[in-house]
Amino acid sequence: MKNKLQWKFVFIMLLLILILMTVVCVFLIQGVQRFYSDAFFSQMEKVFTDKLLFGELTAALGAEDPVAKTQEVLDAYQGRLGINTDTRNYYILDGTAGAVLATSAAGETGRLEMTPNILQALGGTSAFGGSATADYMDIAVPLAGEGGGVEYIVYIRDNRQTVRDLTVSLVSLIMEAVGVGFVIAVALALILARTLLNPILGMTKAAEAIAGGDFSKKLSVEADDEIGILAETFNNMASQLQATMEEIRRSEALRREFVANVSHELRTPLTSIRSYAETLTENPDMEKETEMNFLHVILNESDRMTKIVQDLLELSRFDAGSVQFNFERFSLAKSIEDVRDAVKLECAARGHTMTVHTPEDLPDIVGDRARIEQVLINIVTNAIKYTPDGGQIDITSGSSDGFVWVAIKDTGIGIPEEDIPRLFDRFYRVDKARSRESGGTGLGLSIALEIIQRHGGAIDVQSAVGEGTTVTVRLPIEPKAHPGDKNGGARHHAIEE
Ligand code: ADP
Repeated sequence: MKNKLQWKFVFIMLLLILILMTVVCVFLIQGVQRFYSDAFFSQMEKVFTDKLLFGELTAALGAEDPVAKTQEVLDAYQGRLGINTDTRNYYILDGTAGAVLATSAAGETGRLEMTPNILQALGGTSAFGGSATADYMDIAVPLAGEGGGVEYIVYIRDNRQTVRDLTVSLVSLIMEAVGVGFVIAVALALILARTLLNPILGMTKAAEAIAGGDFSKKLSVEADDEIGILAETFNNMASQLQATMEEIRRSEALRREFVANVSHELRTPLTSIRSYAETLTENPDMEKETEMNFLHVILNESDRMTKIVQDLLELSRFDAGSVQFNFERFSLAKSIEDVRDAVKLECAARGHTMTVHTPEDLPDIVGDRARIEQVLINIVTNAIKYTPDGGQIDITSGSSDGFVWVAIKDTGIGIPEEDIPRLFDRFYRVDKARSRESGGTGLGLSIALEIIQRHGGAIDVQSAVGEGTTVTVRLPIEPKAHPGDKNGGARHHAIEE
């Protein structure tokens, strides 16, 4: 590719020079020719309108040998007429037939071709006309005798050899210039091609590398011209592509892990249901009490499966954005009371002490009441589950800067610091056995986070292993309207007021 473009550059440069030089050549040659002929005619006119010369020529007619006398006069004016006996000569012609009587040109006698100017002079008038491109330039001046008839004609003719020689040397000079120009053009074209093509070549290599999955190649941005901008844009594109690819890989890995988790989570209860059911069918004479125990296990396991499937269904609805939220203004203080009532029995069964401190001025908030209570119940239930019997659970709340917060603090087993960022991942459990034992699915916090985020809020977890955990939910008092909500925050607000 490099060579092809390079030679295109060279070809264009050469073509340009050729066109330019041809134009210059044509104009120059035409100019020189015009200048030369203009100079000739104006010089002749000037000389022949000179009264002195004319007087002398008229006087010569009366001499003994008029032709010799006229020749003498013209010889005297040789310098002013530019006669050089080579390219420019004078002729004295016979006034009736135009035969050459005398000339400055050595060895030229006989007849001249009858040019329009000679014919005009034979007619009695001076002729100073001629085209700039003709093969020759001439003027003819009739010399009339006393009777008025044309006796002689003074004829001056320039065969234009000088201007032809000049043109030839001009053309050869221009050809030399074209030659030098070609060499310079090729060198320039190659340099230009290199400066332009090198970055493009770099880009091609980088693009090939990217196509092969290697994003490490970055182009150096050397200038802030168009090529530099292109290189920079290319680099930006590569980084964005890299980020997108990594994101895709990450989410692909998460998806695989998720599918593996779902299969595993569903297979475990199925396996135990199957083995208990098998034992029951194989032992029809089993003791009633053992039989009841087995049946309870089967029921528990199928409940667990139902719970997992329900939670998964809920999460996939969140993913699809098809969950409708029912936004309304409600008392958060009342909801905290309801949550406390809902978990009271479970809490007492584990011997925990639970305290609730709600400030009197806790503002009402706009949100989906049932779902926010679902989140709080989930967090308080976790506190109950992951705290050894006889623990302490405190629920506090408050408000600031347009937000309310509810903190659930326990004196439980705590969470290792490295596990905290993963708590909200689907199926993530610090201690799988303990979670399953207590009926957990590992999906509770994922769902909680989805709900709180849809309200424009956040969940924060602070924990120390062996000391306890504090989970804080932060919610805006007036969430912004969210697309897909049955009652958008803003619209609801309008109805309220
Ligand atoms: P699960 O159904 O297992 O409780 P969650 O998503 O609600 O699932 O919680 C994820 C994991 O976070 C739990 O399995 C547990 O390991 C940990 N966890 C949550 N809350 C607490 C807490 N208060 N104290 C200690 N560990 C907790």
